[in-house]
Amino acid sequence: MKVTIDGKTIEVEPGTTILQAARRLGIDIPTLCYVEGFEPVSACFLCAVQIEGRPNLSPACSMPVSDGMVVDASGDEVRAARRMALELLLSDHAGDCVAPCHAACPAGLDIAGFAFPIAAGRPRDAMPIIADRLALPRALGQVCPRLCEEHCRRGGLDESVSIAALHRFAAHVDLEEEEPYLPPKAPATGRSVAIIGAGPAGLAAAYYLLQRGHDCTLFDAQPEPGGMLRYGIPEYRLPNEALDAEVDLIRRLGAQFEMNRRWGRDFTLQELRDRFDAVFIAIGAQRSQSLRCEGDELAWSGIDFLDRVAKGERPELGQRVIVVGGGNTAMDVCRTAVRLGAPEVIVLYRRTRREMPCLMEEVEGAEEEGVQIEYLVAPTRLQRNPDGTLTVTCLRMELGEPDESGRRRPVPIAGSEFSLQADTVIAAIGQTVELEPAQADGLEVTRWGLAVNPQTLQTNLPDVFAGGDAVSGPDLAVRAVAAGRLAAVSIDQYLRGEPVVGERQPVNILMRRLDDTELAELYRAIEQKPRVRGRMIDPQRRRETFEEIEAPLDPDQARAEAGRCMTCGCRKVDACKLRVYATQYGADPYRFEGERRRFAQDLSHPEVIYEPGKCILCDTCVRVAQQAGEELGLTIIGRGFQVAVGVPFGGTLAEGLRRAARQAAEVCPTGAIALRTARACDLCRSQTPHELPAETFSA
Ligand SMILES: Cc1cc2nc3c(=O)[nH]c(=O)nc-3n(C[C@H](O)[C@H](O)[C@H](O)COP(=O)(O)OP(=O)(O)OC[C@H]3O[C@@H](n4cnc5c(N)ncnc54)[C@H](O)[C@@H]3O)c2cc1C
Ligand code: SF4
Ligand code: SF4
Ligand code: SF4
Repeated sequence: MKVTIDGKTIEVEPGTTILQAARRLGIDIPTLCYVEGFEPVSACFLCAVQIEGRPNLSPACSMPVSDGMVVDASGDEVRAARRMALELLLSDHAGDCVAPCHAACPAGLDIAGFAFPIAAGRPRDAMPIIADRLALPRALGQVCPRLCEEHCRRGGLDESVSIAALHRFAAHVDLEEEEPYLPPKAPATGRSVAIIGAGPAGLAAAYYLLQRGHDCTLFDAQPEPGGMLRYGIPEYRLPNEALDAEVDLIRRLGAQFEMNRRWGRDFTLQELRDRFDAVFIAIGAQRSQSLRCEGDELAWSGIDFLDRVAKGERPELGQRVIVVGGGNTAMDVCRTAVRLGAPEVIVLYRRTRREMPCLMEEVEGAEEEGVQIEYLVAPTRLQRNPDGTLTVTCLRMELGEPDESGRRRPVPIAGSEFSLQADTVIAAIGQTVELEPAQADGLEVTRWGLAVNPQTLQTNLPDVFAGGDAVSGPDLAVRAVAAGRLAAVSIDQYLRGEPVVGERQPVNILMRRLDDTELAELYRAIEQKPRVRGRMIDPQRRRETFEEIEAPLDPDQARAEAGRCMTCGCRKVDACKLRVYATQYGADPYRFEGERRRFAQDLSHPEVIYEPGKCILCDTCVRVAQQAGEELGLTIIGRGFQVAVGVPFGGTLAEGLRRAARQAAEVCPTGAIALRTARACDLCRSQTPHELPAETFSA
């Protein structure tokens, strides 16, 4: 019989299905419920194809070919039907593809993945997993505001895992070695990239471009690389030595640095475009905003102040210092002023403590060191007094309606004017991007920074890319590092002459909030243990020194803390066919969002774990158990929405799957039936299961 599929014709024996004919032609038709050697059940309908002359789509797995049949297996209608089939399957899926912490980290760090070798006492084995997504993991372990930890599932049981401290520890241990981890490099491509700005975004871009075989030269206006990590964040939070060690690794990978070279003064973009094959712009948001009130020229710029201190100056501050602002810069300025010996440091913030855009521990740290914070106060005038001191006239504020940032707008209270005396006033209310060189060199800009395609970071000039604070305005180091990595992916595509599409993200389903019953189910086998913290130096000593406030975890602490990680996320995250096809077909998991099934797990079997919320009722495990001659086996139980795979006659999973457990886990197209050790063995590589942290198997 002759059959034509997607324009290709083949001759097959009678009884051959369309799926079998397509496979012989090398045409990929997706399937979830089909298993070679078993009678097809056509349950998932993912293999739908259009047969010429038929009004409806047909399942390729069970439809035999007829002579002269013409089949469309990849047209728009077929693809749309498959996408919808996938979206319906995803609509009530009760499971996380990746752990919630992983999904929340802007760099997409596989946290469960790197915590695992640390818990097993092999912290250096964590480095390839960490470095795959995160350049500068030691520095970021010290300064990242830990967006991941807010989403850590462990937080519902006792306290979230100290994720930042763990990657700081792994990188710290590794950097102490003579030969720290250097990622493998692809053969040299002969292509070169100029990077303007050697802050976290530029350094990360170089780190990932060098691995792809491209030469990189970083140009920076400052004497040393590091950007705001060196010249903004003070040494008591991030010592230069920690940053130097990580910059040195990037140098060892092959990065060239041309320091004290400023774009717009020492070179133009065109000169770099002539000399290099591509350019990445990562100049950050380095311009201090003024107080925008009468006499604002009398205030110092917070950024300039921190820059001077970072370069070893010890500016004379006088008795009383007033710092204006409530973000990271304001906290670093006031705590630096304390360390420079100012007896009285007052912060003026125009909103309340709740709206402060910095970590609460920064505020608490400042208060412990004696800083006084005045909320709902804004300066309106600065005047120089005859004795050289300053009078700061202020107004009290109240909070009105939310503004475009979502925070409630401060509104002045009429008649509330008062004044304060100060020796030094430092403005730390934010930074902007210096756009003049970009505009002069023909780049498009936005309200915040340079204009780019957000998927690729390509600018309006095809060989020029930009990222980090230079695009977003002042933000976070982890987002700058993530932008550097994305830029490297896009620039690599550009240099290889491929379409510049950025990084394709796999579909990720997240359960989001779990109710109390679900949480109880999740924590059933986990023992409560408090979070481990690094040693802190006491506040009195902190007032006198730029010494690092928090020490890294010691090996025992790190091992214990990593052992608290419950290795959340799906055990079959990379093997799940539902996720692979959902990604391939661009399915939106939340398109038919309704009530999802409840999270539940059956932990009664010694070899496998069953999560009914991930089951797509494909019947494959039932057939496999039957073929293996299981006495009880599995069956589909229930009606309507309550249908699930179960063991007949109320038997346990261990009774239902005495022989075929491994096989059932293998054929299950999702993570519904998975080997207990599936993820653990992926992560562990060399260890035998009994040496691994207990939680890995119980969670
Ligand atoms: C005081 C302060 C504290 C902070 N604290 C934290 C924190 O605790 N946690 C956190 O996550 N983030 C923090 N941030 C934000 C974080 O530092 C930035 O988001 C991050 O550094 C941005 O990285 P970037 O590479 O985009 O830019 P930057 O770090 O600003 O680096 C830009 C680089 O470009 C160079 N450059 C600029 N203009 C030119 C030019 N024309 N020619 C050549 N070179 C140029 C600069 O010298 C610099 O080296 C803080 C920022 C400040 C200012
Ligand atoms: S970089 Fe920040 S958000 Fe990402 S894992 Fe580390 S601490 Fe968490
Ligand atoms: S327990 Fe581990 S894997 Fe789970 S959310 Fe927390 S850090 Fe992530
Ligand atoms: S548990 Fe069984 S029926 Fe459910 S998806 Fe897995 S193999 Fe299919």
